[in-house]
Amino acid sequence: MTIKTHNLGYPRIGDKRELKFTLEAYWKGEKTLADLEKQARGLRYQNVQTQIDAGIELIPVNDFAYYDQVLNMSTLLGVIPKRFRQDRFDVEVAFRMARGRAPSDDQPCLDGHDHAPDKSKAGYAGAMKKWFDTNYHYIVPELYDDTEFKITDTRLFDEVAESLALKSDGTNIDFKPVLVGPVTYLYLAENVSNAIPKLSRLPSLLAVYQQVLQKLADLGINWVQIDEPILGLELSTEWHNAFNQAYAELAQIPVKLLLATYFETLGDNLNLACNLPVAGLHYDGLRGEKQLKDLVEQYPAEKVLSLGLVDGRNIWKTDVNAAIASLKAAKTKFGDHLWIAPSCSLLHVPVNLEVEEKLNPELKTYLAFAKQKLAEVKLLADGLNGQADQQALQANAQAIAAKQTSKLIHNAQVQARLAQLDQIALDRPLPYSEREKLQKGKFNLPLFPTTTIGSFPQTQEIRQARRQFKNGELTEAQYIEAMQAEIRDVCERQERMGIDVLVHGEPERNDMVEYFGEQLDGYAFTQFGWVQSYGSRCVKPPIIFGDVSRPKPMTVSWSQYAQSQTDKTMKGMLTGAVTMLQWSFVRNDQPRETTCNQIALTLRDEVLDLEKAGIHMIQIDEAALREGLPIKKSDWADYLRWAVNSFRMTTSGVQNDTQIHTHMCYSEFNDIIDAVAAMDADVITIETSKSNMKLLDAFVDFEYPNEIGPGVYDIHSPNIPTVEQMVRLIEKAAKLIPAERLWVNPDCGLKTRGWAETEPALANMVKAAQQLRAQF
Ligand code: GLN
Ligand code: ZN
Repeated sequence: MTIKTHNLGYPRIGDKRELKFTLEAYWKGEKTLADLEKQARGLRYQNVQTQIDAGIELIPVNDFAYYDQVLNMSTLLGVIPKRFRQDRFDVEVAFRMARGRAPSDDQPCLDGHDHAPDKSKAGYAGAMKKWFDTNYHYIVPELYDDTEFKITDTRLFDEVAESLALKSDGTNIDFKPVLVGPVTYLYLAENVSNAIPKLSRLPSLLAVYQQVLQKLADLGINWVQIDEPILGLELSTEWHNAFNQAYAELAQIPVKLLLATYFETLGDNLNLACNLPVAGLHYDGLRGEKQLKDLVEQYPAEKVLSLGLVDGRNIWKTDVNAAIASLKAAKTKFGDHLWIAPSCSLLHVPVNLEVEEKLNPELKTYLAFAKQKLAEVKLLADGLNGQADQQALQANAQAIAAKQTSKLIHNAQVQARLAQLDQIALDRPLPYSEREKLQKGKFNLPLFPTTTIGSFPQTQEIRQARRQFKNGELTEAQYIEAMQAEIRDVCERQERMGIDVLVHGEPERNDMVEYFGEQLDGYAFTQFGWVQSYGSRCVKPPIIFGDVSRPKPMTVSWSQYAQSQTDKTMKGMLTGAVTMLQWSFVRNDQPRETTCNQIALTLRDEVLDLEKAGIHMIQIDEAALREGLPIKKSDWADYLRWAVNSFRMTTSGVQNDTQIHTHMCYSEFNDIIDAVAAMDADVITIETSKSNMKLLDAFVDFEYPNEIGPGVYDIHSPNIPTVEQMVRLIEKAAKLIPAERLWVNPDCGLKTRGWAETEPALANMVKAAQQLRAQF
């Protein structure tokens, strides 16, 4: 017997996002359900073939989903809120749970996602949440008093049957359904009516899991992968008990369970995980490296231990030789009970490196996407089995060695600068209380100054001009003229509306990270490196492959031009280092902190160049600061330390009377408010309108000392807010925060809106501010 290869999940979108396009066509009514199902079957078949061809022996099933695998669990288990229920389950029910229906008419909402502010409202989509620290979002299960767990959606069993039909005699290929485990499912669910405590629902939930497992056993399934990623969290005794209870029950069903954890160490859950009555455990040997040795020592030798050393969260080639060496002890102990897999599902990496035609060829030799990672799993297992293709091992070793000394990756100048980091003072020269006076004198703004968050409607013409410039259909001069015309236009409009602090509107930016990444050395962009974010939405994170530096200023000429068009203050606009880092694939050969500092230094230079060019109010967006929080709370402090320092490093070089703004698109600030305060931005703008200013509480309780612009209207909605609505909100804010420290602005950037609603909305916002000035 030899070591087995398996996989935890494969991307379902297709090499070139085929599923996305078919789904969206289906939602628009341009394709039938039969078309969609055919496409899906084709993709599943292709994925199975790809995995078989790569030498994977145990292949995941039910890793496919039209929208989301957690949503699939909900429909499987009958967790369908009343507002979506109908006599018979069909896939439309699932789509409505994910996407909602506009309450006004019976059409599904097409433009993305309706968050559910009021769940009682007919047709509102379920809320979305980030799947641990990934950029994947799941639909949050909703538990009500009348929720009754029962097998409702049978697609799981259909897909299992479909896969088993592909099994041919004489091969050792087998299929392994993947389920979100009962404890994780319950943990992530929202207990909407709390008459029934969440954990008291466990027994009835387990009864249905038992039925599901029994059905799978009846179909001829040997192994089921049961994902319990909450084992990476710091769990209370209650939840430990839930695990023990759950797996004692599930152990009664005659099917082997491979309990899967990933994204983290097990921490204090190590004993628990070692003692649950399951047939095997999968462990993320990369994110969980610290505990790998302990786990190998503690895990019972008669069970299966699956280890993931091929990174399912990043795009780098695995150092296969090093991985083989590091698994020697595990191999000695577990023999053929050692299995090899990627660290987690490959859902979180792009599909296929082969289709990239424009990447730097050297860089390409350092990378592996999902398909290439399967081959690494196989090579690693072969190596442990003593039957590896020596040439492949050598080629891998060569690439790894080349990367270590590559000039593409390593830039001596950047490193020299980084070595001097401690010479940069992170504090502004004067504290905010002193800066405030200087800034008030300089900008001379009225009470309740009005501004916006940066972008203005990205019209067809703007997008077309950018596209044409990229394709070479516009010369650089023509492109600059087109963008300047746009800037002139937004300046005029803002002046006409009476806004106090203007922005240039960001017409030249396709995306707030890509725009900067494209101008920085050390950043690469793929053509097809898409990763599912939610439903049909995918993101294409750039790759930070090397030391980051800034060949030349990135925003100065645009901001300078914009300032030349107005006598009012023009706010400069940058994306912060943490957000740049968070929305990219990052290096794995140095800590995130180091990469973040490199980006922060380039932004520091940009800030100082802007200041020199006469831009004395500069906003640095840190939309992703909260997203970067580690999974384990005990790691938060360290992350927040370097994240906050990177912001301070970006901004500390300016004069005291230069005003630094930051913007964050959410307002769950309670548990990070001290870090936000430590950033010491002169002004922070946040999203608050939907919460009716409730979310300012964190700032009030903390006695946040600097200025705040709580959003006064929700830019995600096309509705035009009235003057009265906004006056009420600002009055509310002014009861919480002294009026002298309040700004008036929308929740977020306006690039997704049209002018038809933007202009009247902002005009009303200005009127609201004026009305309040008269009152105070
Ligand atoms: N300055 C950016 C914009 O207005 C901020 C984007 C955001 O809020 N995420 O588009
Ligand atoms: Zn925002």
